[in-house]
Amino acid sequence: MKALTLTAEWSPKLEYNLSDQERETHKVKNGFMVWKNPTINVGQTADPTPKDDEVIIQVAAVGICGSDMHMYERGTDGYMLYPGLTRFPNILGHEFSGRVVEVGKKVRDLKIGDLVAVEEIQWCGECVACRRGFVNHCDNLEELGFTTPGAMAQFIPVRARYCWKLDELVDRIGDEKEALIMGAMVEPTGVSYHAMFNRIHTWQPGVYVAVFGAGPIGLAAEALAVAAGASQVIVLDTSESRREIAKRLGATHVLDPIGLDLNTSLLDLTYGRGVDFVVEAAGAPDHTIAPLTRALAVNATIAHIGLAGKPTPLSLVHYQQRGVQFAGSLGHAGHGTFQNVIRMMASGRLDMRPMVSARMQLDDAVSAFKRLESRQDAKIILLPN
Ligand SMILES: [Zn+2]
Ligand SMILES: [Zn+2]
Repeated sequence: MKALTLTAEWSPKLEYNLSDQERETHKVKNGFMVWKNPTINVGQTADPTPKDDEVIIQVAAVGICGSDMHMYERGTDGYMLYPGLTRFPNILGHEFSGRVVEVGKKVRDLKIGDLVAVEEIQWCGECVACRRGFVNHCDNLEELGFTTPGAMAQFIPVRARYCWKLDELVDRIGDEKEALIMGAMVEPTGVSYHAMFNRIHTWQPGVYVAVFGAGPIGLAAEALAVAAGASQVIVLDTSESRREIAKRLGATHVLDPIGLDLNTSLLDLTYGRGVDFVVEAAGAPDHTIAPLTRALAVNATIAHIGLAGKPTPLSLVHYQQRGVQFAGSLGHAGHGTFQNVIRMMASGRLDMRPMVSARMQLDDAVSAFKRLESRQDAKIILLPN
C-alpha cells in the first residue's frame, strides 16, 4: 500500500536525560530533544493484517495537523519542533475516518463496511490512570501517527475499542463522502471538546469566550462555543486568512493580537466585565495567557490546550483575586467525547467543513506539507484512496 513515512536521525541532545526505556524502545517523551533532520516521503509499504482485537480501515480522509507540521519542521539546530511523544520512522496521520474492510477474530462490535472515526490516543485500559478514567494520561500511552503507524496511508490497523461509528452522521448529512470528511474532523474537534467540557465543568450558556489561536483546534473550540450557547466568541490570531475562517465559523469578533492592548480590548468588547471562558490553542501561553489579567472575569475559566515547549510565568495573584480556574488539557479520548462530537456534527449545529481549505491526494502530500508551512490554510484533508 501507499503511505507517507517520516524518518529522522536518532541524535539525543547532550543535555537531555534519556531514560533506559527511551534508549531501548526509541519511544521518546520529548521529540524535539532527540530527533534530527526529519524528512517525509510517500512510498510503498506492506499491507497491514489485523490482530485479533483489531480492524483494518481503508482510510477515506485524513487531516494534516499542527502536530504533523511540527514533526516535519525543524529548528535552526536541525531538530524537530514537536516536543511530545514520538518514535520514528513512522507513518504520520491521526485525524481520520474510513471504512472497516477486515475484522479481527475477537472483534464484536464492528463489521465489514462500517464507517468510523478513531481515537488517536491508544490508551491501555490497565494502568492506574486508565482505571481512574483518565485515559488521555495513560502510563503506557501509544499515539497513533506518533509512536504507532498512522493514517496517511491507504490502510491502517486499529484496535476496535478506539473506533466510533459514523452512521448517525451519514444518516443525517445524507452524503457519505461529506460525512467522511467531517469524520476526519472529529479527532481535532474532540481535543477542544475535551478541554472545554470534560476537564472542567464551568461552562454556562451565555458566557463571553476568548479563543487564542485560529488553527484547527482554536477554530473547533470556537465552533463548539458557538454551538454551546456562548453570547460572544472573540478569536485572536495573527493570520488574516485564519481570522476570516473564524468569522465564517461564527466568531462575534476577530482580533489581530500584534500590537494590541489585550486587556483593554477584551474589556471594551465585554462591557467591562471581562471574558468568562478562555481557550489557549495558540501554543504561545507567554503571549496569550500570561498577559491576560484585568480582562479575566470573576470566576473565569482558562482551558489550556496549545503545546508549549517551555514553562510560562503566570500572574497567579490575578487568578486569586478573580477566582480563576485553570484546566490543563491533553487528548480527546474517553468520556464519550467522540460520540458527542459526532452527534453535534450530525445535528447540523457543528459543521467544521468551512475550515477545510483543500482536499488533496496522498501522492501530493509532500507539497501539502510545504503549502502549510505558511500557516495560511486551516486544514488540508488528504484522500488516500
Ligand atoms: Zn492532531
Ligand atoms: Zn493506561
